[in-house]
Amino acid sequence: MEIDMPLPQVPGPTKVLSQFHVSRACIGCGRCCGTAPRHFQIDPAVGQSSVVKQPTSETERQQCREALKGCPVQAIGEKSSTSRPVR
Ligand code: SF4
Repeated sequence: MEIDMPLPQVPGPTKVLSQFHVSRACIGCGRCCGTAPRHFQIDPAVGQSSVVKQPTSETERQQCREALKGCPVQAIGEKSSTSRPVR
């Protein structure tokens, strides 16, 4: 006989992961590189910014969000997801 049991809740903190990207709308103004220089750099081959390092902490995520907000052509995007620690 089978009994339906609720799935156990997984304890532990939920981690928010952010992935930033730069679209082809970038005009290469360099503002994001000034705001978050460890995360955005202009690729001289194309004259546009790209993400060179994704944020790994809340502080870095905030810096990338400041860059996103400051982009004059809304070329920076953020995709967030959550994860739980693997046991
Ligand atoms: S702020 Fe926006 S337009 Fe300027 S370099 Fe960065 S992504 Fe490109």
